[in-house]
Amino acid sequence: MTTIGENLNRTRARLLAACVQAERPSDAVRLLAVSKTFDADAVAQAYAAGQTAFGENYIQEALGKMAVLAHLPLEWHCIGPIQSNKTRQVAENFHWVHSLDRLKTAQRLSAQRPSVLDPLQVCIQVNIDAGSNKSGVSAQDVLPLARALTALPGLRLRGLMSIPESQANFAAQCAVHARTRALFDSLRASGLALDTLSMGMSDDLEAAVLSGSSMVRVGSAIFGRRNRTETAR
Ligand SMILES: *Cc1c(COP(=O)(O)O)cnc(C)c1O
Repeated sequence: MTTIGENLNRTRARLLAACVQAERPSDAVRLLAVSKTFDADAVAQAYAAGQTAFGENYIQEALGKMAVLAHLPLEWHCIGPIQSNKTRQVAENFHWVHSLDRLKTAQRLSAQRPSVLDPLQVCIQVNIDAGSNKSGVSAQDVLPLARALTALPGLRLRGLMSIPESQANFAAQCAVHARTRALFDSLRASGLALDTLSMGMSDDLEAAVLSGSSMVRVGSAIFGRRNRTETAR
C-alpha cells in the first residue's frame, strides 16, 4: 500500500467516524480527493486505492492529468475559479463544477457543454463568511442565481459549495458550516431540487459532516502538504 493509499484509508475512517457521530448513514457523504499540484501518478495511486472522484483548481493542470489518465474511469470536479476563456475546456472535460458564481460563466458553460455528454453537474459557490475579496456569491444573491441556472439546458444545479476561512476550533467550524446548511435548506424550501452540499476539507471535515455536508473535498490529508508557491494560474 502506498502512502497515498494509507492516507486515503485514514481519511475514509475519519469520514465514517464522523458519520457515526452525526448519526448519518455511512454512505451519506462522498469523498472528493483534491489532487491540485500533485501529478498524474499521485492520482493513479489514489485510483489504485479505490478513489474515482478528483477535484482540481487549475484547468490547464487538470487537462494534462486527464490526458495521461484517459484510460481510467475517473470523475473530474472543477473546484477553482473559471475565467471566461477557459469555459469551453471545462464544459468539454469536467463532470462537475463546484465553483460557479456568475450567471455569465454558467451561460457559457451551458452553451459549450457537448450535447453527447450528460449535463454538467454544478454547485453555486457561496461566500458564507463574507470575506471581502473572496470569490463566491453572497447569501442573498444565491436564490436568484439558482433560479436562473435551472433554465440552462447544459447544466444541472445540484447544490452549494463553501470555502470558509479557517476557524479557531470545532465549535466555530460548526457555526460557519451551519450557516451554509441553513442557506441550503432555505433554497430547498423555495422549491429547488438540490441534493449536494459541498463543504469540509482536511481540517474541518468532521464539523462539515456534523453540519450536513454531502461531499467533502480533501487534499492535503490524502496527498500530503502542497508547496506554498501555489497561486492562481
Ligand atoms: C485546495 C482545496 C481543497 C482541499 O484543501 P485541503 O485543506 O488540502 O484538504 C478543498 N476545496 C478547495 C476549493 C480547494 O481549493
